[in-house]
Amino acid sequence: MAQHHDVIVVGAGFTGLSAAAVLFERGLDVVVLEAQARVGGRVAAQTFADGGRVDTGGQFVCDDMTNVMALIRRYGKTLVQTPVEGAFVVQPAIDAPDKAYAESRSLRLRMRALNPRDPAIDGMSVADWLAAQPVSADAARAFRSTVEGLWCRPIGELPLWYLVSNDRRITNRQSEIEYFVGETIHSLADDMAAGLDGRVLTGRPVTQISMRVDRVQVQAGEALLSARHVVVAVPPVATSRIGFEPDLPAALRRALSVWRSGAVIKALVRYPRPFWRERGLSGMVSWLDPSGLFACDVSHDGLGAALVVFVGGPLAIAAQGMPPASLEAMILGKLADVLGEPARTATAILLRDWTGDAWSGGGYSDTVCDLRAKDAEDVLRSGAGRIQFACSELSLSYPGYIEGAIVAGRMAAERIMAAGGENAL
Ligand SMILES: Cc1cc2nc3c(=O)[nH]c(=O)nc-3n(C[C@H](O)[C@H](O)[C@H](O)COP(=O)(O)OP(=O)(O)OC[C@H]3O[C@@H](n4cnc5c(N)ncnc54)[C@H](O)[C@@H]3O)c2cc1C
Repeated sequence: MAQHHDVIVVGAGFTGLSAAAVLFERGLDVVVLEAQARVGGRVAAQTFADGGRVDTGGQFVCDDMTNVMALIRRYGKTLVQTPVEGAFVVQPAIDAPDKAYAESRSLRLRMRALNPRDPAIDGMSVADWLAAQPVSADAARAFRSTVEGLWCRPIGELPLWYLVSNDRRITNRQSEIEYFVGETIHSLADDMAAGLDGRVLTGRPVTQISMRVDRVQVQAGEALLSARHVVVAVPPVATSRIGFEPDLPAALRRALSVWRSGAVIKALVRYPRPFWRERGLSGMVSWLDPSGLFACDVSHDGLGAALVVFVGGPLAIAAQGMPPASLEAMILGKLADVLGEPARTATAILLRDWTGDAWSGGGYSDTVCDLRAKDAEDVLRSGAGRIQFACSELSLSYPGYIEGAIVAGRMAAERIMAAGGENAL
């Protein structure tokens, strides 16, 4: 006999935890099934051998991201302002980097001003569009590095309408790396899970979801559970690996098949002292070549001097299979080229390769990579009867961010409440 609940939430990332929190607060019997032994999904943390816990997944937030900021305050977390004082370096050095970046920013604004539904841009990739823009070669490289660094896929694969629609929903005026959480933002996911009072079950990968007339059955390992509603709070690529019975309608199957996971490797590098500051540098570096490489300072009292390095997009794909020692040497070498020789003598380094991650597929988010799949997000958002699909990717604000996950989760919960989420069996 299947255990019965009002709502089953699949996945305990910020989307699933936020959906469950709303339903729990409204008095529903909700259970969260998480595949991994921990909660947080693409928000994860690791501890250096000599102590000091750091976020090796999602980390940064800013004041414009009001929902995540409210949670951080509600759970009494310590906000650390990301140190940015000093020079920002573009690598390799180009003439007038400020001009190139200003031009790249106006290009991004020009792109955002396009109408994603305009038939004139149907079938066009971001690379096609960029090639036709009257900008300097350096501005085009800066634009490409920004896009490949943030969306973590080569620009030739990204549909222009998708990038326009996605970028329009990322509305922050403050820098998106304005703050991070001293105790790690992963600890916030742990606190949210604890607030659900034993309703989060970890180590329960969901393999099959079966739709019945009056309920949905969910198979998680040996356990069979049922509920009136299910929220699949899992990114699209991972959702496409769950079996549905009967099969999902063709439009939904197609909508799930058009996504690819981003590729990113995150490195946290610790030093005896923030030596870059002695040279007037902020520690913030953006590489135009290879594109998608970015570093910034995450030093704080609890950790000491440290830099975070993101290896995003094509470079992360190329680095797949590279032995960790070679990857570490590559990262330290790139830092030394810009910040000086002391960058080679890190006291510790933590590497987290998200590329091909078993449960999230990669990072920072999945992106639509089919130039013609314009309706994929809408189709997924409309769900399948008692099943809601929710994840940061589908959020109406800040898709691909922790803020987006919170918004998407809460919206899915509201849709269930509107449909009468209580247990009528
Ligand atoms: C390296 C990296 C850096 C990032 N940096 C930032 C940042 O600085 N700021 C920011 O705002 N965002 C950042 N992000 C993005 C942000 O972390 C994500 O957008 C957000 O956490 C996604 O939340 P989610 O709940 O939608 O998905 P996820 O976090 O992926 O959660 C989905 C959950 O579902 C579980 N799951 C999957 N399949 C199954 C199954 N079959 N059965 C049961 N459970 C399943 C997974 O284990 C996971 O726990 C970063 C991401 C990465 C990878």
